[in-house]
Amino acid sequence: GLDDLRKAVGKLLKRSGPYEAIVKEYIRDIQRALISADVNVRLVFELTKRIRERALKEQPPPGVSRREWLVKVTYEELVKLFGGDTEPEVKPPYTPYVIMMVGVQGSGKTTTVGKLAKFYRSMGYRVGVVAADTYRPGAYEQLQQLANRVGAMFYGEPGSKDAVAIARKGVEELKKRGADIIIVDTAGRHGYGEEEALLEEMRRIAEAISPDEVMLVIDAAMGQKSYDLAKRFHEATPIGSIVVTKMDGTAKGGGALSAVAATGARIKFIGTGEDVDELEVFRPRRFVARLLGMGDLESLLERIERLQSVEEFEKTVAEMVAGKITFRVLYKQLEQMRKLGPFRKVLQMIPGFSTMLDSFDEAAKVSEEKMKKWISIMNSMTYEELDDPELLEQRSRVKRIAIGAGVEMSEVRELYNYYKTVKRMMRQLRKRKDILEKFAKMG
Ligand code: GDP
Ligand code: MG
Repeated sequence: GLDDLRKAVGKLLKRSGPYEAIVKEYIRDIQRALISADVNVRLVFELTKRIRERALKEQPPPGVSRREWLVKVTYEELVKLFGGDTEPEVKPPYTPYVIMMVGVQGSGKTTTVGKLAKFYRSMGYRVGVVAADTYRPGAYEQLQQLANRVGAMFYGEPGSKDAVAIARKGVEELKKRGADIIIVDTAGRHGYGEEEALLEEMRRIAEAISPDEVMLVIDAAMGQKSYDLAKRFHEATPIGSIVVTKMDGTAKGGGALSAVAATGARIKFIGTGEDVDELEVFRPRRFVARLLGMGDLESLLERIERLQSVEEFEKTVAEMVAGKITFRVLYKQLEQMRKLGPFRKVLQMIPGFSTMLDSFDEAAKVSEEKMKKWISIMNSMTYEELDDPELLEQRSRVKRIAIGAGVEMSEVRELYNYYKTVKRMMRQLRKRKDILEKFAKMG
């Protein structure tokens, strides 16, 4: 199952030997893990193809092994697959907002309606729910009770078999009663061979109420079937988002990934139990990190990120040593310094630099606040001034820049003095052969 992803990563980090052979075996392990977790086969091959290509092509930053880089690549590609870096937007963009739930029987639709009602109630929305499942006996009572429990308005017609009419009237009525969010529960009860009838009903309900969002509910244990299932639902009523239920169980969970691939929709929530509180907003990064083995992965990713920042910074310093110091270069350097923290610490990370720390002392004292101010001062300069700092010898320019940035002239001069300090430092650095050699190698 998906658990095997973590094992594959663990094995990868321990292995030695020729890199290409390692990649080959690792890719096979990943494929096996994903396929046994019921992820759609085509999807598995597309994913692992991308991972393999990046693994063989990309160079990790210095200090990171190629195997570690491979783990990062796997993490990134999986996160992309699960919806990328950003968390899903769960706040409705406007009100009233109508959500229609779809999914097969037993997937957890009605339970999720209750959970969502509670979730949105706690955000301060007025929520109404509509019981448009006319197949399952007791569906009406089940939802009515849930609505009472979480303080949501309720609409249903006991005894009626016309789901489309109930949905239409329910949405209308709840809008009149002032609901901000209206959630329509639907049926899933169509036996083997009756799937067409279910999909037809979904289509007709969607036509009647024009929902703002159709939410597909998928049981985490659904497995291989979820790809085709999600695709068919998507063709009937375009799926806007996905809820994966029963994530608390022993489920393999791969089906969820297939549902995402089949619909192009994002997973918004996961259900983690039977209770109305057991709903979580889906967080792709956290989910994938958990899949790959959280603790180790987190520290690895942090280290790679830091090394990448140092690498960027080194390049800027190399530029500074090699070329002319301009405000453009200082701008870049200051922005990177803000990312990296105190100058002194940064320099200590660069071999050969620690001995130079004394001469950098002045620069090391630049505070975060000052850096921000300097950046805004540079934003008020002309291109000419950015390229040729010496122009600031002219008082009229200093005055114009100060007014533009809303600062004192003395503050602009302070930045100019910083420029001169850095220029002096770079002149000293050029005399240090060992450091120059290091930079020459970095190209
Ligand atoms: P529906 O037919 O799609 O409306 O499904 P229901 O909402 O009636 O749920 C079917 C069963 O799944 C019920 O026994 C629920 O308690 C259970 N269930 C729903 N969501 C979850 C979940 O996230 N975790 C667990 N463990 N059970 C769930
Ligand atoms: Mg139900």
